[in-house]
Amino acid sequence: MAADLLVWWVAGGRRDVAQKPWMFPAHGRWPAPEESLDPYGIWIAEVMLQQTQLQVVLPYWKRWMEAFPRLELLASASEQQVLLLWQGLGYYSRARRLHATSRLLLAQLERSDVESNGFNQPSHWPVDPEVWLELPGIGRSTAGGILSSAFNSPLAILDGNVRRVLARLHAHPEPPMRAQSQFWLWSENLIDAVPGLSRNLNQALMDLGATVCTPRHPSCEVCPWDALCAAYASDSPQQYPVKEAPREIPFQVIGVGVVINDAGEVLIDQRLNEGLLGGLWEFPGGKQEPGELITDTICRELREELAIEVRVEQELIKVDHAYSHKKLRFEVHLCHWLAGDPQPLASQQVRWVKPSELADYPFPAANSRIIAALLKHLD
Ligand code: SF4
Repeated sequence: MAADLLVWWVAGGRRDVAQKPWMFPAHGRWPAPEESLDPYGIWIAEVMLQQTQLQVVLPYWKRWMEAFPRLELLASASEQQVLLLWQGLGYYSRARRLHATSRLLLAQLERSDVESNGFNQPSHWPVDPEVWLELPGIGRSTAGGILSSAFNSPLAILDGNVRRVLARLHAHPEPPMRAQSQFWLWSENLIDAVPGLSRNLNQALMDLGATVCTPRHPSCEVCPWDALCAAYASDSPQQYPVKEAPREIPFQVIGVGVVINDAGEVLIDQRLNEGLLGGLWEFPGGKQEPGELITDTICRELREELAIEVRVEQELIKVDHAYSHKKLRFEVHLCHWLAGDPQPLASQQVRWVKPSELADYPFPAANSRIIAALLKHLD
């Protein structure tokens, strides 16, 4: 079974340097089993790929490697530089953890007495998955992905693509997250079946899930496992993986104030580091209470969170934004600052900035339309 997958992958996998540049050594050919690769670029790619597709990740990875080509450059960067490069990829805690992890890894490599020009030598990096698992943002699948890619270590992976393929292959009757140990066992069995080829096997599994066994329209007729696949035999592969009963997604209106002072500066605040958008900058505001006018929401939120008084003026824009767990509508008004020195009562810091400087700050994706509307208004 694993051997069939590898035969398919040699012809049909994503083995091109343009698709996965982190998988290619300097000679430009796919690495031989005995070759080790630079774990730095692989680690960055693995974390970016945790929630995001390959074609989206690619330009981000390239920009990142241009800005921080080596571990020590990432470790010495500011959090703002890191978040700006991540802007648009979402799940910003990944960027903050990468940054924190770079400092831990650097300290570890320094402790092992490596010359500063040697940090990117593969042999100096940890090869024990337990060491990686202690680092922020590294789970079992990410550790397996990094070590199998860099060192061809015989470690399994279990990301969303792999779960889907295995759930279909076995027509597993319950959601994969309820049977994690079974799914890990299936993934490990595949690795064990092709000794010395775990790097290729894991890449092949991911490629099969991303390009053939796709979520909505699996191409079973070109799949190397068509004759073995229980879901295909049942004629309904799309029914797998079995999903949890859908939850109702809550909807919330957020009143947002774009506060401008007499000098023409705009007030922004930096979110606390917790949560999905932690550490990013935003225009202040908050949730509308039942029965509350949106203009009252904005006044109340700015008073509670920044200790300022404003006059709420015209609407600037409405922006709808859907996250996986909630839908938000931002109702954004221009506001004139009246009184109070802004205090970061619910944020890390607040800052008055010129509108032309907004591009220097990392904002959540939903805010880019607010910034564009503001710049158009001021034009
Ligand atoms: S046969 Fe179809 S459903 Fe089964 S693993 Fe292949 S692509 Fe997925």
